[in-house]
Amino acid sequence: MSPVVPVPAPVTARPAQPYVRVRDLERDLTARVDGEVRFDPGSRGAYSTDGSNYRQVPLGVVVPRTVEAAAEAIAVCREHGAPVTSRGGGTSLAGQTCNVAVVIDWSKYCDRLVSVDAGARTCVVEPGIVLDVLNARLAPTGLMFGPRPSTHSQCTLGGMIGNNSCGSTAQAYGKTADNVSRLEVLTYDGTRMWVGATDDEEYARILAGGGRRAEIYRELREIVAADAGEIRRRFPDIPRRVSGYNIDQLLPGGDFHLARALVGSEGTLVAVLRAELHLVPAPAAESLVLLGYHDIIAAADAVPRIAAHRPLQLEGVDDKLIDYERRKGMHPDAVKRLPEGGGWLMVSFGAGSQREADERARALTDDLGGTEHEPHVAFFDDERTEKQLWELRESGLGATARVPGMHETWEGWEDSAVPPERLGGYLRDLRGLLEEYGYGAASLYGHFGQGCVHTRIPFDLVTADGIAAFTSFLGRAADLVVSYGGSLSGEHGDGQARGWLLPRMFGDTVMAVFGRVKAVFDPDDRMNPGKIVAPYRVDENLRLGTGWTPADPRVHFGYPEDDGSFQRAVMRCVGVGQCRRHDGGVMCPSYRATREEEHSTRGRARLLFEMLGGHADSPVGDGWRSEAVRDALDLCLACKGCKHDCPMNVDMATYKAEFLSHHYARRLRPAAHYSMGWLPLWARLAAFAPRTVNALTHGPGTAALLKRLGGVDPARSLPVFAGARFSDRYRRRGPRGSGERGPVLLWPDTFTDNFAPRIGHAAVDVLEEAGYRVLVPPRTLCCGLTWISTGQLGVARRVLRRTVRALTPLLRRGVPIVALEPSCASVFRDDAAGLFPHDRDVSRLAEQTRTLAELLTGTEGWEPPRIGGTAVSQPHCHHHSVLGYDTDRRLLERAGVRLDVVGGCCGLAGDFGFTAGHHEVSMACAEQELLPAVRAAGPDTLVLADGFSCRTQLEQAGTGRRALHLAEVLAAAGRDRAEGTRAGATRADGSGTRADQAGADATRAGTDGTPPVRDGR
Ligand SMILES: Cc1cc2nc3c(=O)[nH]c(=O)nc-3n(C[C@H](O)[C@H](O)[C@H](O)COP(=O)(O)OP(=O)(O)OC[C@H]3O[C@@H](n4cnc5c(N)ncnc54)[C@H](O)[C@@H]3O)c2cc1C
Ligand code: SF4
Ligand code: SF4
Repeated sequence: MSPVVPVPAPVTARPAQPYVRVRDLERDLTARVDGEVRFDPGSRGAYSTDGSNYRQVPLGVVVPRTVEAAAEAIAVCREHGAPVTSRGGGTSLAGQTCNVAVVIDWSKYCDRLVSVDAGARTCVVEPGIVLDVLNARLAPTGLMFGPRPSTHSQCTLGGMIGNNSCGSTAQAYGKTADNVSRLEVLTYDGTRMWVGATDDEEYARILAGGGRRAEIYRELREIVAADAGEIRRRFPDIPRRVSGYNIDQLLPGGDFHLARALVGSEGTLVAVLRAELHLVPAPAAESLVLLGYHDIIAAADAVPRIAAHRPLQLEGVDDKLIDYERRKGMHPDAVKRLPEGGGWLMVSFGAGSQREADERARALTDDLGGTEHEPHVAFFDDERTEKQLWELRESGLGATARVPGMHETWEGWEDSAVPPERLGGYLRDLRGLLEEYGYGAASLYGHFGQGCVHTRIPFDLVTADGIAAFTSFLGRAADLVVSYGGSLSGEHGDGQARGWLLPRMFGDTVMAVFGRVKAVFDPDDRMNPGKIVAPYRVDENLRLGTGWTPADPRVHFGYPEDDGSFQRAVMRCVGVGQCRRHDGGVMCPSYRATREEEHSTRGRARLLFEMLGGHADSPVGDGWRSEAVRDALDLCLACKGCKHDCPMNVDMATYKAEFLSHHYARRLRPAAHYSMGWLPLWARLAAFAPRTVNALTHGPGTAALLKRLGGVDPARSLPVFAGARFSDRYRRRGPRGSGERGPVLLWPDTFTDNFAPRIGHAAVDVLEEAGYRVLVPPRTLCCGLTWISTGQLGVARRVLRRTVRALTPLLRRGVPIVALEPSCASVFRDDAAGLFPHDRDVSRLAEQTRTLAELLTGTEGWEPPRIGGTAVSQPHCHHHSVLGYDTDRRLLERAGVRLDVVGGCCGLAGDFGFTAGHHEVSMACAEQELLPAVRAAGPDTLVLADGFSCRTQLEQAGTGRRALHLAEVLAAAGRDRAEGTRAGATRADGSGTRADQAGADATRAGTDGTPPVRDGR
């Protein structure tokens, strides 16, 4: 049936895109939009893809400062006929946010929480606000936004509205559409309006108002009413129908809820300027039950009975996913807690009190006892364990994306959904289909309580045959899910991945309705064209594809986990976007400081991908010489946070070193590379006349000049060389003590040796007291760190080779190497093996390198002296990413210290914070966690930091506090112990030891027997 009054013809095919004069467009946007307008190769490359298999290079990017500015940007685009694509966190998995369009990035500035009405349980937000940020701000009201995708720490509300996002808590709270009350929207033609539920009175008022708004309402009503029967028949009544436009919200007899109808329209109909959201009370307590079944299908069969208990979350995980997590060493503690089985359900209950939540969980386990498939049960009600287990589930995509020894996996059939009561049957058939196509390695997991299944599939997206199989599989899988009364997408949206398959689910009539709805809002198809309606084919615009011919250049590092290939290493990034998180872990300090895609791990990985020239339209055309890539890497602190925190272990610090090496090959480098990159050499020379050098580097006339010549930021003060190097003094002194536990080599790194020899001496005291015979190398050696971080890899290799040769006799005797500076320990443990992947002595070096805490806690019978009191500790980033900090934490706790461990990065990171132009970002990183924590610390609280950079940052940030190395507090407390100073002699809690005094006022150090802070003793 067709509408009775004239309505626009449906958009069914993509019209030819108008010729856009890109330079003129850029000029007008720059002139009229309050925001950042970027048409440079770096920005276009960074925004060319999202979490999907697709890639399209945008015309340019606009980052508006306000929603008004965004509206102006759309007006300018309209005048030029340019398509527009909205973007939040860019975590879409179906290609929704890549397009040949002007990308509007709402996430940087348009992220305000406009208002909260706690009584009405609503709030108004701008679209760029991140879900976790919103919920953190709402926390004092006890309310939260209910739906919670796995990407909660980086996805935006605009993106959630765009995709109609769900996540595990949708079990209790429904999809985003169910939680949106009103939207302020803007159409391509400039119509701006608030929309929401529309009763007859309101409808009449809108029509009486006339104009474009009335036209939109009238046409939509006509279009949907005309085919209401077919819409009702074709829209499956399941909890997770996300595919298609939500035209069921506009059916006669309902609320005519235009806001909810627009949720899930993926930026193809309107831009969302503001949203009024429904909030729910945040559960005060939660309990988690894990149920182990024979396999995932048995687990799926059990879903309806469990769902009847109305859990908060009901998730499924199969044995393959767990196997992949095990193989990748992910979440080892959580994996151990799974009950016996080959398929698991995770069921959580929320309530006002822990007792109530526990009772609900017990009611479930009682109910399941004695059933046909009685599961193995494990029950948890402590927050830490529950968090670990949810992380295990939420990292499903990362765990399955690249498994060692397995073909890479891809999205494509990521989130199909069926009626929950038919889930077991669907999984049986889907597994059969996967096997038939040779995709049997795909794991199956997801939001089982709502029938939604996640999987990444080992598609071949490079060869013609592989892509034909991919396309054919998607067709068959679509038919299968439809035969079960399901939806192609149950969570992530259609985008390009499903748009082409939608007719199989909805049929021609409903597809024509979608086309008409599109025509009502955007008849010329300028809003995110090619997605949902009139879509691109599933095999167009592939990120790889048959035309993809990337370079695989000869490189310096070995990339052993990427088959020795830099190109494969760069491809690790799958676009999850965790590097855009605002807190937790370390990754990615430069994104947190700048909020720029280009300065996130993902943005950098994208640009390196583009740089390898796999696609003819790549905006990065000049390979290793690319300035766009260099600029994106410039603010990378080489903290290696990503190597640990990224689910794909992207190691941007290594890629940066590799890039810089090629970029500057046979060319003049920035001054900082010669000054700070060659620091070990300059320090060696300075040791001949340290006082003179200090006078020059800090002299009123000379300091500024030297900093300018050395590419050092003028706001920085150069470190002071000690009067005597640790290694020189120690060589003169020689080993003492019993040495009964045998030799250790104490590594005199450049920083300890030249700037903080007191730490070396303290370490000697501690090691000798523990019974070790301390050795230092007979001559000055170096790990090569400063050359690695500045990409002078030829020199770094020579330096490191020389060091390994000198240490070889000790290494072959199994002598442990104690490294006091975490970044040097990290070179020995990690980078060295990358530079010399097949060298046995380098492997020995990696295996035998210990931090002080590791050596001491592994020493049988060694007990730490009592330190007591409280301490704020900043682990070095390389503790976080390579070495681990748990051993230090346990040691300090055994020594009676109440420890507050600060997360994040100090922001100095070797040469980074010293380099001219980096000061602002460096300080912004420090302000994220370290500086507030230290400022808040009481005067008696110790401040601990093993990294020279972290200590220097604190010293130069004007906190008035000096941080101590673990060696210093242990040495001071050890002397107390030796002298019989009784713990608690100065304070009732036993914190008044000498170590504690050293921390409380390090500037007084040296007067009471603790080592002086600045100079060597
Ligand atoms: C590892 C992984 C796990 C995921 N898990 C889940 C999950 O559990 N549940 C779930 O639902 N999804 C999940 N997703 C998909 C995705 O993260 C979510 O859909 C998320 O809500 C998207 O938010 P975003 O800010 O990244 O949006 P984007 O990807 O930037 O955009 C999403 C859509 O919204 C549109 N849009 C953005 N802002 C606006 C605006 N102001 N006006 C109009 N349109 C706009 C965009 O054009 C696009 O079509 C997952 C993705 C990944 C990579
Ligand atoms: S770098 Fe890692 S965390 Fe960031 S998007 Fe890529 S895969 Fe995700
Ligand atoms: S090394 Fe650090 S700064 Fe660089 S991309 Fe990784 S997390 Fe970000």
